[in-house]
Amino acid sequence: MKILKTIEELQNIRKTISSSVGFVPTMGALHDGHISLIKKARIENDIIIVSIFVNPTQFLVGEDLNAYPRREESDKKICELCKVDYLFMPEISSMYTKEEILVKAPNKSYILEGYTRPGHFDGVLQVVLKLFGITQATNGYFGKKDAQQLSLITQMVKNLFIPINIIPCEIVREKDGLAMSSRNIYLDQTQRKEALLLSQSLYSAAALIAKGEKNSKVIKTRINEVMKNLDIEYIAIVDKNFNEINSIELKNTIILIVVRFGNTRLLDNIWL
Ligand code: AMP
Repeated sequence: MKILKTIEELQNIRKTISSSVGFVPTMGALHDGHISLIKKARIENDIIIVSIFVNPTQFLVGEDLNAYPRREESDKKICELCKVDYLFMPEISSMYTKEEILVKAPNKSYILEGYTRPGHFDGVLQVVLKLFGITQATNGYFGKKDAQQLSLITQMVKNLFIPINIIPCEIVREKDGLAMSSRNIYLDQTQRKEALLLSQSLYSAAALIAKGEKNSKVIKTRINEVMKNLDIEYIAIVDKNFNEINSIELKNTIILIVVRFGNTRLLDNIWL
């Protein structure tokens, strides 16, 4: 595995590659969720690139940019073990200029995550667009865990005619059901236990739906009951275009939840 710290190095190498390139963008502190994306990319491409870049433009003032977990050495080992060809770790100063061409997420992005974190998706799309430009990847791998992000990136690629296939990847969970996230390390013991209620509430909703319940209100009530003592930010039932729906449409429904544990927000979702 080669570690590339500059954009130029990666661009020069890219010019010499004519086979398929799989790309997995991350913010590091790699866990099994990231690893599943990397493994999928490894199988489906000749060459794979993983990036680690804690992108400042997607953090809002007061968010955890400085505290965001950084584990460079173990991340390198993980990538090496996963047979990554190129690990790209650019400096912030090389990724941004003083006069940026800004990317603006569409109005739809102002719901859910976009509502709570205004500007967050603009920053995500901006950096992902830059990374697509640098890597010129054939296939880009993104987790369904960040469902709204995945949807917006898919839309950006379509609307801006970017020649890359976006490959959605399943959510990877801890054995007890908690969706893996670099931010899980912020949880204390009690919060870690309580956090189990997120996946449990989604499984409970799925069981209700399997029994024939279609009404979104009833399903939200069930989710609320399971998570009753938690600080719920939102529970949303949407179709795959992120329109709220009153009735479950099988194969076209995502149930999304966000719960706060102190300063830590945990996201989870289930695709039905
Ligand atoms: P991050 O480092 O948090 O920006 O995540 C990098 C990529 O990994 C994104 O496409 C995420 O959706 C994906 N990802 C993060 N956690 C998980 C998980 N538990 N399961 C699957 N994909 C994930």
